[in-house]
Amino acid sequence: MNEYDTNRIYDTVKNIGYFKTSDYSDADCFLLNTCHIRDKSKEKVFDEIGRVRKNYKNKKKPIVIVAGCVAQAESGEMIKREPYIDIIIGPQSYHKINKVIENFNLKKKQELTEFETEDKFNYLDKIKNNDSKVSSFLTIQEGCDKFCSFCVVPYTRGPEYSRPFNKIIEEAENLANNGVKELILLGQNVNAYFYKDKEKIFKLSDLILELEKIKELDRIRYTTSHPKDMTDDLIDCYSNSKKLMPFIHLPIQSGSNKILKLMNRNHRVEKYLEIYKLIKQKNHKVEFSSDFIIGYPGELDCDFNDTINLVNEIKFINSYSFIFSPRPGTPASKLNQVDKEISKERLIKIQTILEQYQMKKNESLVGSSIEVLVENKLKNQNKFFGRNVFQNSVIFEGQDKYIGKLANVKIDKTNRNTLFGKIDENKNMRAA
Ligand code: SAM
Ligand code: SF4
Repeated sequence: MNEYDTNRIYDTVKNIGYFKTSDYSDADCFLLNTCHIRDKSKEKVFDEIGRVRKNYKNKKKPIVIVAGCVAQAESGEMIKREPYIDIIIGPQSYHKINKVIENFNLKKKQELTEFETEDKFNYLDKIKNNDSKVSSFLTIQEGCDKFCSFCVVPYTRGPEYSRPFNKIIEEAENLANNGVKELILLGQNVNAYFYKDKEKIFKLSDLILELEKIKELDRIRYTTSHPKDMTDDLIDCYSNSKKLMPFIHLPIQSGSNKILKLMNRNHRVEKYLEIYKLIKQKNHKVEFSSDFIIGYPGELDCDFNDTINLVNEIKFINSYSFIFSPRPGTPASKLNQVDKEISKERLIKIQTILEQYQMKKNESLVGSSIEVLVENKLKNQNKFFGRNVFQNSVIFEGQDKYIGKLANVKIDKTNRNTLFGKIDENKNMRAA
C-alpha cells in the first residue's frame, strides 16, 4: 500500500512542480514513506535521514518529509529525536501535501496526523493515476476495525473505509488505458470492502466481477484478506471469475486456537480449514499463502506445533513469518514476552518447512509450459521478468514483443523464489 500511496503522492506533487530525481545529491525535497508494522522499519527511517543529513552537510537543506504509519504513530517523538525532519504527514492526510510544501517554513515544523480518509480519496480522485506498470496496485479499502491485539494498523491507518464503487472502476479503467494488465486490489482488510450506494450494497466480489469486464485487463488479485471476511460470494469468485488468479494470501497468524483467541483474531483454525476446503472445491488449482507470527506472548511448544501441523495440512506455497514485535500502544505489547532464543528457533523451524513446500511447488512446474504475464526486460540482460498465476517470479529468455502480454514460458529450472525458462514459441503461436 505504501507503494500505491507513494505513486499517488507523486501524482499530486507533480502539480506544484516537483519531479523525481535519481540523483541523491540534487533533491529539493526528500519524502520517506514509512511502515510501522514491525520495529525494524522505524529504525530504517532514522538511518535514511542520517544519510540525507550527511549528504547535504555543506549544501542547502532539502525539505525532509516523513509520511506513512511511523509518522502517524510517532509524530512529535520523531521530530524530537531527529530535528532534521521538517514535516510529518500521516497516511490519511496526503491530500494536504501540496499546501504543506508550498507553505514550508524552515523554522516551523508541521505535523498532519488527522484521519480524513474520505477527504483524501475525494481529492485524489480528481488527480489522474499515472501508473502504467503492467501490474499495478489499486487501493479499494483502508484502515481496520478488528483490533488484533498485536497490530498497529487500526491506530495508524484509522477506521475501515471503503472507496466508492464507481470511483474504483473509473480508476481501474484509467489504469487499463495506461497499459496496466494486472490489478492488485489493496486494503489492510481488503475483503471487508463494503460500499452502500442508496439501497445497493457492493462487496469485493461485486468489484471483481465488474472489473473483469474491462477488456484490457488480464488478471485480478487482492490483498490482504482476513479469514472472517471470506464470505460465500467471494469464495464463489474462484469458480465464477475468469480473471481472478488462483492464488490467495490469507493470513492466519497461528495454528493454535488458544493463541488466535489471545490475538483477538475472532476466528478459529477450523474456520480457516473450512474456507480452504470450500475454495479448493470451487477450484482445485487455487494455492494459499499466509502470514505467521511466531513467539506471540503465551505461545508454548504445543501451540507452535499446532501451527506446524496447519502448515503441513495446507502446504502453503509462499508465506511470511515474523517474530512477534511489540508495537507501542497495542494490548499485546504489555504482555510477558516469549524468550527471544526460543522464538528464533521456532522461526527457523517454520521457515524451513515453509521453504520446502515453496520449493516443492516450484519443482512441480519444471518441464511444463506455464502462463506468465510479462512485466519488463531485466536491466543489462537479455532476459525478461514476469509472474505466473501464483505470483511467482519468472525469469526467461524471450522477446520485447511479449512485454505486457500473457505468454507461455517453458520452465527448465527453479530455486525457491524464482522460476527460469524460455518463451515457448510453439505454444504461443498456437495461442495466437
Ligand atoms: N489484515 C491482515 C490480517 O488480518 O491478517 C494483515 C495485515 S498486517 C498489516 C500484515 C502482517 O504483519 C500480519 O499478517 C502479521 O503477520 C504481521 N504483523 C502485524 N503486526 C505484527 C507484530 N506486532 N509483530 C509481528 N508481525 C506483525
Ligand atoms: Fe491488523 Fe489485520 Fe488485525 Fe486489522 S485484521 S488489526 S490489519 S492484523
